[in-house]
Amino acid sequence: MCGKRAAVGASTAAPGGCCEPCWHDAVASSSESVRAAAARRPGAPEWALDALAYDPSPLVRAEIALRRDLTDPLMDKLADPDRELDRTVLRRMARHPALGRRASDLAALNDLVVQRQLAGNPSTPPGVLSALADHSDPAVNRAARARLIGAALDDDQRERLPVGVRSFLAARPARRR
Ligand SMILES: [Zn+2]
Repeated sequence: MCGKRAAVGASTAAPGGCCEPCWHDAVASSSESVRAAAARRPGAPEWALDALAYDPSPLVRAEIALRRDLTDPLMDKLADPDRELDRTVLRRMARHPALGRRASDLAALNDLVVQRQLAGNPSTPPGVLSALADHSDPAVNRAARARLIGAALDDDQRERLPVGVRSFLAARPARRR
């Protein structure tokens, strides 16, 4: 990382980024750890995100799955169990704050970690939460039910709840590992 201006075409102005030639070198590197480090680096140009999201190494794709600057087509690819076969990548996508409608395909996976992440993901749609509310795992069904109840309350009702309950229902995004 050279610390020069963010690369041309970067989706965000990122301090601590690097220039276009650095991105090319990193993405083309034969070293998995160099590509994984690039996948964590801020200010990625879109072409680099595309390349890293399709990287043959699941370690690299798992780093990409933590990014907030993924395009819709990349979100679709990484959260699709038919196209993304690595469980770590899918588990990370299950708690991605921009997951939304893609939660339903992930919910169909028989993976308890994925289902727990989905139940705690504020972007999971109510239809998916309803299905998870009947899950046999208590951590899944409790979180899903709490979120459905929270969604059904109006602002006045929410105001009257104890502070602890209110912050639980607000369901912060899952912590990063
Ligand atoms: Zn550079």
